[in-house]
Amino acid sequence: MKHFSNKIIHWYQQNKRDLPWRDTKDAYLIWLSEIILQQTRVDQGMEYYRKFAKEFPSVKHLAKADNEKVMKLWQGLGYYSRARNLHATAKIITDNYKGKFPSEYADILSLKGIGEYTAAAIASFAFDKPHAVVDGNVYRVLARVFGIETPIDSSQGKKEFYQLANELIDKKNPAIHNQAIMELGAIQCKPVNPDCSVCPLNTICFAYSKKRVSELPVKAKKTKTRNRFFNYIVLHHNGNIAINKRVEKDIWINLYDFPLIETEKELTEEQFLRSTEWIEFIEKNKYTIRSVSANYKHILSHQKIYARFWEIDCPKPFDKIIPKTALVINKKSIHDHAVSRLIEKYLQDRNY
Ligand code: SF4
Repeated sequence: MKHFSNKIIHWYQQNKRDLPWRDTKDAYLIWLSEIILQQTRVDQGMEYYRKFAKEFPSVKHLAKADNEKVMKLWQGLGYYSRARNLHATAKIITDNYKGKFPSEYADILSLKGIGEYTAAAIASFAFDKPHAVVDGNVYRVLARVFGIETPIDSSQGKKEFYQLANELIDKKNPAIHNQAIMELGAIQCKPVNPDCSVCPLNTICFAYSKKRVSELPVKAKKTKTRNRFFNYIVLHHNGNIAINKRVEKDIWINLYDFPLIETEKELTEEQFLRSTEWIEFIEKNKYTIRSVSANYKHILSHQKIYARFWEIDCPKPFDKIIPKTALVINKKSIHDHAVSRLIEKYLQDRNY
């Protein structure tokens, strides 16, 4: 086991990428980077990490921040529950731990938005506690090197991989061991066509010796994707528009978009113009169509959104007919509100 750890640590020292959160032992900054990097590429995450670390240099600064400001800064990164949890957890650390990040694994794990992986990362990177990190990169390296065929998305698989990762960890150097195995998975043992000839583990790797690299790791379930059809109604009156805050338990909670008519299936423009919702909301009020956009396809992890934007001219103010969660704002101030990537794209295309 020491052998495994020595090999990856040696490789890491020669090959690691220079990333800003690797130069710190500050648990707050490590936590920030880990949350940003969940579901986000390193190059995109770096820019957000720098913005957040500059704007909120400590957990107390983040706790005191206005929620809208946090969401606005997060805009474009997706998975917005991460930003909400970051903010809520910063307040808990400020109130319950006097602004000092807890150092025990169990305390870290009890915080909102922090799962086993992130708790192990913070405990090891910031406090040198011997807790093994197991993320997608680590699953891949372990499945291939040790020839484990148990599906990584099964509870049995999770147990097996965690146990093995914790047996392998170098208890004297947990931070660098964890960094090394994750980095190896990220830049050497890539999902497709890794260059095994230069890998430090190629002499002990099951998958390489048996020519089974492309078969491992194994996944049990295929994730189902749901198709959704959005018709956004952009109401205009006197330089004002209506924007809607998403408060339902759904995607993009607490972000702004426009009043929305969602349909069960894909409708042509003609079919949509005959729908009850359209007639009740638009036709009855004698609104006129200024333009309709092409279809925007927006892909999330489990959903595909097909969105169309209807720009509508309203002869009278529309305050009374818009949803309770909507606001009437001057068109130009839309940029002060946090919106999804889809809305941001539309606003850019239309030069809002
Ligand atoms: S030898 Fe190939 S498959 Fe095995 S750990 Fe290295 S890169 Fe991954």
